[in-house]
Amino acid sequence: MIGKPFGDLVVQRPVQRMRGGQLETRWRCICKCNKPVTVSTENLENGSMTSCFDCRDPQKRAARVEHDSEFQNFKYLGIKKKGGLEEGFDNQFQFSKKHGLSQASVSRCLLGRQKTHKGWTFRKIEEPDNGADTNDDKSEPS
Ligand SMILES: [Zn+2]
Repeated sequence: MIGKPFGDLVVQRPVQRMRGGQLETRWRCICKCNKPVTVSTENLENGSMTSCFDCRDPQKRAARVEHDSEFQNFKYLGIKKKGGLEEGFDNQFQFSKKHGLSQASVSRCLLGRQKTHKGWTFRKIEEPDNGADTNDDKSEPS
């Protein structure tokens, strides 16, 4: 299973967890856009997951990139559910200290291992696509 491609996904390693008293195996895959995504064996084999959610839904991603553009000088975005406060930051340690959070938990949220921490959610700032258009200095084939 490991190293096997399913659409845009390549299987990296198994992820096991207990669910309802049963051990469930899912697969940590990496998408062609380098985003990790965890998929069940069933969803891989029946072809219902062939990319990460952003590649599957590019419009959603585009909207997020546009939203993130105001934070583009930062690496990470913290969102406080209550009040909808959004704050960009680079340094997890400083950010955690400022808001009385646990840096380990912030880090786990950023890695996708934890969903929320003290009412905050965290994610990496989406970078705009470096499309083919960025190359102004076109060298014409002679
Ligand atoms: Zn993707």
